[in-house]
Amino acid sequence: MNADLLITHASQLLTIPSHFNGPQRGDRLGDLGLIEDGALAIDGESIVAVGLTSDLAQRFSAAQTIDAGGRVVMPGFVDPHTHVVWAGDRANEFEQRIAGATYMQIMHAGGGIMSTVRQTRAASVDQLIEQTRARLDRMLMHGTTTAEAKTGYGLETQAELRMLEAIQRLDAEHPIDLVPTFLGAHAIPAEYKGREDEYTDLVVKEMLPAVASLITHHSSLFCDVFCEAGAFALEQSRRILQKAKELGFALKIHVDEFEPLHGTRLGVELGAVSVDHVVTTPADEIELLGHSPTIAVSLPGTPFGLAQCEYTPAQAILAAGGALAIATDLNPGTTWCESMQMIVALACRYLRLTQAQALAAATINAAHAIGRGGSVGSIEPGKLADALIMDVNDYRSIGYRYGTNLVRTVIKRGRIVYSNAGGLA
Ligand SMILES: [Zn+2]
Repeated sequence: MNADLLITHASQLLTIPSHFNGPQRGDRLGDLGLIEDGALAIDGESIVAVGLTSDLAQRFSAAQTIDAGGRVVMPGFVDPHTHVVWAGDRANEFEQRIAGATYMQIMHAGGGIMSTVRQTRAASVDQLIEQTRARLDRMLMHGTTTAEAKTGYGLETQAELRMLEAIQRLDAEHPIDLVPTFLGAHAIPAEYKGREDEYTDLVVKEMLPAVASLITHHSSLFCDVFCEAGAFALEQSRRILQKAKELGFALKIHVDEFEPLHGTRLGVELGAVSVDHVVTTPADEIELLGHSPTIAVSLPGTPFGLAQCEYTPAQAILAAGGALAIATDLNPGTTWCESMQMIVALACRYLRLTQAQALAAATINAAHAIGRGGSVGSIEPGKLADALIMDVNDYRSIGYRYGTNLVRTVIKRGRIVYSNAGGLA
């Protein structure tokens, strides 16, 4: 049989399969589907066969063969929660925080999220694309081949639509596939201070219908809300998500990052695809989540970035039978981290996941958390050929080692899009 590309001699080929066409749940998380001396055959954009090198090398005559040379080969990382599109930075605030200023003090001085909103509102679509492209490039070099991307730094209709346009244009031009999420309910903008219900009205009556016109039967769109004290209360979150659901959006919700507002219960009730953060979630809601199809997306980079001690109770979620994914939460305020490898390392330490569990949470479960579990997140015939050759020969080095890039080659839709195999110049 003919193929465009054959990758052979993976010391460990991690296929990381779906379970029953869904995520790996509960104590079954961590099924790597590991094949020793594994190989995969790629034709066009897709994987056509997976198996032993001895078998595939015989069956396929390939236009190009890459000998993985005894390295780990795995699916591209899927980053299911990012705020990757924004303008400017907040390095000065981080300096103030190290010196002891609180988040509230910085916000009252005109900083915080509104500082990013001001810079994003002032940016053209081209400027947003240019600044975001550099971040996507670094994500790709660190092995991310599919990512979710949220709006939410416009907080007015036209600025939110410009962010969506930036996401759509970057999805078309950049190797990373982007899944768009409308997050007009990210924060109450300064000009609506004390008039939270009026801003909620604006989201429900003006923004959602304007954005919904972009949903086609080819592409889905998520709607997300930041349900948190100081952002959107439970009832405001419910109004927004209910309207979004009526308009055909798939749902996500930021819950329990700092204060439990029963957003997890709301997300499960409304059939949200994911609830994200899930740090201070009460035990009964974890139980509810565990019995639902809603996926918990943990963002361990955020407490790490804020130097806080409380992380997602991942063991309790798994004990309840829940599905867990992990993501960067890449954003300019709390965690500017473009590397899913770093998130795997944090998840092993603070969520107490094994390396195998963390890798499944960062690939197949992450894909299901953004509705792409049928096309990416695992190395299985019929799926997009998104694969990484890692510069290690044992998967347990991923998560154990951190702070350097262990990716050697990135293949996206069957094409080599990054390689550091050449070494130093
Ligand atoms: Zn977020």
